[in-house]
Amino acid sequence: MIDFHCHIDLYPDPNKIIELCDKSGIYVLSVTTTPKAWAKTNALSKGHNRIRTALGLHPQIAHERLNELSLFDRLVSETKYIGEVGLDGSPELKQHLQAQLQAFEHILKSSSRAGGKIFSIHSRKAENLVLDTLASFPDAGVPVLHWFSGTKKQLQRAIDMGCWFSVGPAMIRSVSGKSLVQQMPKDRVLMESDGPFVKVFNRAALPTDTELVKKELGLIWSLTGKETDQILLNSFDTICKLGH
Ligand code: MN
Repeated sequence: MIDFHCHIDLYPDPNKIIELCDKSGIYVLSVTTTPKAWAKTNALSKGHNRIRTALGLHPQIAHERLNELSLFDRLVSETKYIGEVGLDGSPELKQHLQAQLQAFEHILKSSSRAGGKIFSIHSRKAENLVLDTLASFPDAGVPVLHWFSGTKKQLQRAIDMGCWFSVGPAMIRSVSGKSLVQQMPKDRVLMESDGPFVKVFNRAALPTDTELVKKELGLIWSLTGKETDQILLNSFDTICKLGH
């Protein structure tokens, strides 16, 4: 099993989540929201081979943390995974879009210089701008759009640009989410929990909840559990070999 976008460091007891991951044999991309959080979050996963820690600066707080971009640059060679980064054009965050863009462009430039990375990208209500920005930094690496919720046209543009997608419990619950998933190339789909932000059964989503996503992907793709597993594992294997 795979969870390609989980905020392990934001659960009340991160070690308990890591224990659960070990027990269930799940591979996890542990994303962070500020460069300052990276060292401590990375230390959590020490000795746990299936967990990788991504260096991030979340668009919802980027405008308050531009001073951490120099720390980002110092840490960028420590990991090949970057996330959570991106842009958020929601009404309450639109006023900070310029600062968000400054952070995102800086991160993409820094990642290009470092040889290209694998990204977990937030694009809520800023899909076109995220894609425009990615297009300006073609050497930044491989973008994985997490919880993509744009239009089908925007999705097609993302597909044409070579983006990957991580699909979570919230996406497979909605009709519009499911129809987006149907359009995604099967071999560029990964799973995510986005816990603890996403809720499942009235509690914080856990990495193991990607099992629900897998079942739904099987239904959308009209494939058996085994076939679905194989596709997801192959994709995971492919993306892990990319990036520097
Ligand atoms: Mn997230």
